[in-house]
Amino acid sequence: MACAVLAVQGAFIEHEQRLHELGEDCVELRQAADLARPFDRLVLPGGESTVQGKLLEELGMLEGLRARIEDGMPTLATCAGLILLARNLAAHDDRGTPRLGTMNITAERNAYGRQLGSFHAQTECAGMPDVPMTFIRAPYIAKVEPSVEVLSRVDGRIVAAREDSQLAVAFHPELDDDLRMHQLFLQM
Ligand code: GLN
Repeated sequence: MACAVLAVQGAFIEHEQRLHELGEDCVELRQAADLARPFDRLVLPGGESTVQGKLLEELGMLEGLRARIEDGMPTLATCAGLILLARNLAAHDDRGTPRLGTMNITAERNAYGRQLGSFHAQTECAGMPDVPMTFIRAPYIAKVEPSVEVLSRVDGRIVAAREDSQLAVAFHPELDDDLRMHQLFLQM
């Protein structure tokens, strides 16, 4: 079986490269018909969450993907993908754009400022030491429900979390030369 990568906008090619390095086949999701192709896991890449959410709805993929995630399909969501998964957005961020909303977290968009919001950190994540973290106009997780496991914090802010089969990270593991986050996902 293959891993589906949402390929309507954003940094999906880099995810495919990392997954190929780990021997995983990828299926690109560009239109509703692609949902019929065989895949048993899903990556939601970084990019622009409002654009991705609108495209998911316009292309007729929103409901189908939500159902697959709710059925327990392992899902890795990075940056904008984390925003798509979040059940709630901070009130000032919520313009009602379509989202999947399957994970019991509250996300804060562009949490580090609009222009100067890119930086690098290296810290423990999911018990793994020194995970490199590239943040690009990143969100953070402002609140989690008890069903959500916090995996990492940077400057006291939650930047990675897991709820059942959903793994959400505010940074871009696909842009760093470290495959551990993708490995963690493939073990789910
Ligand atoms: N700021 C973007 C958003 O709100 C996310 C940035 C990213 O994915 N690198 O969707």
